[in-house]
Amino acid sequence: MRIPLIAGNWKMYKTVGEATALVRDLLAGLGSLSDREAIVCPPFTALAAVAPLLSDSPLGLGAQNLYPEAQGAFTGEVSPPMLVDVGCRYVIVGHSERRQYFGESDAFVNRKIRAALAHGLRPIVCVGESKPQRDAGQAEPIVTAQVRAALLDITSDQMTDVVIAYEPIWAIGTGDTATPADAQAMHAAIRATLAELYGADVAAAVRIQYGGSVKPDNIDELMAQPDIDGALVGGASLQAASFLRIIHYQ
Ligand code: PEP
Repeated sequence: MRIPLIAGNWKMYKTVGEATALVRDLLAGLGSLSDREAIVCPPFTALAAVAPLLSDSPLGLGAQNLYPEAQGAFTGEVSPPMLVDVGCRYVIVGHSERRQYFGESDAFVNRKIRAALAHGLRPIVCVGESKPQRDAGQAEPIVTAQVRAALLDITSDQMTDVVIAYEPIWAIGTGDTATPADAQAMHAAIRATLAELYGADVAAAVRIQYGGSVKPDNIDELMAQPDIDGALVGGASLQAASFLRIIHYQ
């Protein structure tokens, strides 16, 4: 009942020319996607150039961030209506790089989720623990607390548009991946938290992605886990061959 979502987070990579070239290569190898969904999240500057290439294709478009106001004197920021206008359907919110380097708090992440939903964008809400937190046996309480804080005042109806991405910070960009069993255990804990907040039916419908050094050689095993409903992919989404292999997981 949950359609897996594979999302490519291009981070601060790809000029407009590089982005359109990558999208063309992806479309050339994609084929039709019947039992899964795939999107790319290019940098803001490439969204308008990439969007027309994706229309009428199976590949969707997302952004990497937003500011939680519709418009205003917020120099350098990008609003939800601007993302909708350019063709985005998804937006990544609360990525650990934003929490770490730009000081984003749980409360600010919650504002962003509410703003995204208010404007018809589906937020991909990132949560995850650091290495010291995992080593201290605190991973599960920390991550489930992040989930609760992120979803404050989000209704059951709105949850159909929310995607959670479990991304252990120590696995992002490092080549270290959580074992499929450890990832599955955390996904199950997140789903149990969703069940406490929204009931079993909503919890069973929400997609929970895994992120953190997902590669062609580990995607199949990760996707075989019952509570892993897709992947948020950084480095391996920057080349067509590797991202296509991940999209076409078996
Ligand atoms: C990410 O950017 O969310 C990510 C998981 O990166 P990587 O796949 O490179 O670890």
